[in-house]
Amino acid sequence: MSLWEYAPAPESREVANLKPSYRPFVGGEFVDGSGEPLRSLNPATEEVLAEVGTAAPSDVDAAVKAARKAYERTWRAMPGSERAKYVFRIARLMQERARELAVLETLDNGKPISESRDADVPTAAAHFFYHAGWADKLDHAGLGPEPRPLGVAGQIIPWNFPLLMLAWKVAPALATGNTVVLKPAETTPLTALVFAEICQQADLPPGVVNIVPGAGDIGAALVDHPGVDKVAFTGSTEVGKQIQRSVAGTGKRLTLELGGKAANIVFDDAPLDQAVEGIVNGIFFNQGHVCCAGSRLLVQESVAEELLDRLRARVSTLRLGDPLDKNTDIGAVNSAEQLARIRELADSGDAEGARRWTSPCPLPERGYFFAPTVFSEVQQSMRIAREEIFGPVLSVLTFRTPEEAVTKANNTPYGLSAGIWTEKGSRTLWMADRLRAGVVWANTFNRFDPAAPFGGYQESGFGREGGRTGLEAYLHVPS
Ligand code: NAP
Ligand code: MG
Repeated sequence: MSLWEYAPAPESREVANLKPSYRPFVGGEFVDGSGEPLRSLNPATEEVLAEVGTAAPSDVDAAVKAARKAYERTWRAMPGSERAKYVFRIARLMQERARELAVLETLDNGKPISESRDADVPTAAAHFFYHAGWADKLDHAGLGPEPRPLGVAGQIIPWNFPLLMLAWKVAPALATGNTVVLKPAETTPLTALVFAEICQQADLPPGVVNIVPGAGDIGAALVDHPGVDKVAFTGSTEVGKQIQRSVAGTGKRLTLELGGKAANIVFDDAPLDQAVEGIVNGIFFNQGHVCCAGSRLLVQESVAEELLDRLRARVSTLRLGDPLDKNTDIGAVNSAEQLARIRELADSGDAEGARRWTSPCPLPERGYFFAPTVFSEVQQSMRIAREEIFGPVLSVLTFRTPEEAVTKANNTPYGLSAGIWTEKGSRTLWMADRLRAGVVWANTFNRFDPAAPFGGYQESGFGREGGRTGLEAYLHVPS
């Protein structure tokens, strides 16, 4: 077999218009935050990208007041048809600046440029387009006559899809007439601050969107602020539980989108090559930093060996390295901390007796990288079968009957997503009825659409984002 070498195909980092420093965005202006500045790193090189001013609790207070003022004086009373124009304008500006946003996201997060360019940024813009369409139709959304906005939304997002998670939160809030204070993750604040520039370009009234970079304590200050009417959080189950405790009894509305440990279930009648592509997409997309990742592969025993052979052969072809290279499939893990967490959990797999296979790809000398890894002979009691690894690590279990597949798939405290691979439509429906997961994909995985509600069961959280259902989280609706 001849080996094909790829020539380097790096995207230019100049496109990102990286500035030496960024600042919080409050009341329509970039302001000097009173917190300690943080440095955002490029996880692929460990170099400092920029210094970012952070908010102190006093800045959170100013941001919530600015959001309240904008809500009461302009945004709440504005006709939906007018609000729609702003949301639409934001979507168009995101498209115009798509290349800049994609390169910046890749630098700050470590994800491959092919993903930020083809998935994160276009899907983020799609959320604004979709919600612009709802702004003047809320009276006809089946949510009762004249549904009213909630007020000021405090939104906290993680580092795995920084701009996309911002879009999931900000677009529905604005379309429904709420104003926003958003805290991006400490390790990935940059695209949120370019988004703030886009809000200025779109002439969004000052205070409708405020961005307060900072660490977890600033997230907590936002959650606890008495001027916040609604809290929307995406991140770990542990922090989600803390937030639920502090919001209890305050009357604030809450949605939580937390972790997952999804089962990707392959039956013996599935088209195996297609299933292999879906498994690869399910666990290696975005280095496995995906809450709905297909991190548990459940494969029917009769095809397990053949599927695993094909899977290892396919994973061996994945290219790991410079995230800015257009041919890269696997980029950098977002932080040294997350890399340590992945290593620790993978080591527990060895210790508990699972069989580790690692893709033979070379790792760059600098930066935070973890080679694609597949554990077979995994038992349900092992930590790698139970805990969210949030990295490029797949745990493989087997089953004999559909009943056993359902029991194993549901044997998790989470319940965010699941995948089914089979030729039989009747089996897909039978399984989908029994799987305790918010999203069930059939013969595909990791498909996202702004029109489709997304959210979890159990420790994966509650509330839905996207679709008509997602609007309910930002409106007073009759119960
Ligand atoms: P995390 O701590 O839950 O972070 C999510 C967001 O919450 C970040 O903006 C974070 O700020 C903020 N935050 C932290 N503590 C807070 C508090 N007490 N009150 C309010 N906000 C707070 O998640 P992580 O530490 O980045 O990742 C840990 C694990 O969570 C991962 O290994 C993964 O298993 C899971 N995770 C899940 C998702 C998901 O999409 N469901 C996303 C990310 C992580 P800082 O950035 O400053 O910490
Ligand atoms: Mg960074």
